[in-house]
Amino acid sequence: MVRNAVDVVVVGAGLAGLSAARELVAAGRSVTVLDKGRGVGGRMATRRIGAARIDHGAQFFTTRSDEFVTTVASAVEAGAVAEWCRGFGGVDGYPRYRGINGMSDLCKWLAEGIDVRLNETVVDLADHPAAAYILTPPVPQTLAICSFSRRLPPPLLHRELARIDYHPVLALLATFDQPLSVPEPGGVQQPDHPVITFVADDQMKGITTVPALTLHAAHGWSVEHWLASDDDIIADLLHAARDFTSGQVPSEAQVQRWRYAGPVTPWPEATVCWGSGTDGDPVIALAGDAFAGPKVEGAFRSGRAAALRVCGNA
Ligand SMILES: Cc1cc2nc3c(=O)[nH]c(=O)nc-3n(C[C@H](O)[C@H](O)[C@H](O)COP(=O)(O)OP(=O)(O)OC[C@H]3O[C@@H](n4cnc5c(N)ncnc54)[C@H](O)[C@@H]3O)c2cc1C
Repeated sequence: MVRNAVDVVVVGAGLAGLSAARELVAAGRSVTVLDKGRGVGGRMATRRIGAARIDHGAQFFTTRSDEFVTTVASAVEAGAVAEWCRGFGGVDGYPRYRGINGMSDLCKWLAEGIDVRLNETVVDLADHPAAAYILTPPVPQTLAICSFSRRLPPPLLHRELARIDYHPVLALLATFDQPLSVPEPGGVQQPDHPVITFVADDQMKGITTVPALTLHAAHGWSVEHWLASDDDIIADLLHAARDFTSGQVPSEAQVQRWRYAGPVTPWPEATVCWGSGTDGDPVIALAGDAFAGPKVEGAFRSGRAAALRVCGNA
């Protein structure tokens, strides 16, 4: 019989996976977190282009639940997170937070002291023996892992989970020689704009010292232009954002294709779980922003909920 190296394997070192791991470690479980990426954070992603640091996934987060308020307060105290502003295009009183050096900082802070293994693409759970698994990739990717591992959920649950769809987002990241013309506080939200829904001046935001821009394309525009060349996407998005760049030509520009940017219809519960936890039937819990709300805070809460469920079952 293969002995389990750890109690729980968590797949994904985004916010859901790391909040789950922290909760499990606090409950005395041995945990390994595996992620296919080169760094932690998942969609809380910060990339370097030349001397610039640019957030290209989530741009900010809010805190509404007591559990997230407490964690974010500790992250602020630890110097990992800071308040960015209290609204875009007007002050509404609710803090919007950012990482000190970019959005991945919250995940880096949560990962401290956790056994996180990067560049580890999980294909078959049997390669990582454990009494329980928490799977946090976007649901279609999670179900592919379950299928390959012959650990699919019961048929009715499987059918419902397979309906969870995600909208895509095209993002543009660019650096410039001269400061940008994005108004204070360095972010513009335009949810109804047909081309660009969010504009961020990463320099004014405070995560980099050189002029750098993030643009997020609208969902419909992203779908329509998904297969366009990077050059065409860059030209179209920069044209639509010319008021924010004063028409400057970027020193460098890159496109990021987020196929699973956010769930279209989130699941009504914070986690789902199957498996008895007895020999040969591990507990499998799913977590991520598809479960407790399609945002950073939802991912955090879902990860914790999955950890608590696993602690109850395994
Ligand atoms: C463009 C964009 C803008 C956004 N803006 C905001 C915003 O402003 N505010 C907000 O609150 N939210 C925003 N979000 C949503 C937010 O980023 C997500 O809700 C949150 O980060 C999801 O965290 P997660 O842990 O559930 O998933 P993820 O962060 O996606 O983590 C899943 C992890 O699983 C890993 N993984 C996948 N498959 C495997 C495998 N086979 N083996 C090993 N590892 C694997 C991935 O590498 C990834 O690190 C935005 C998202 C996008 C894409």
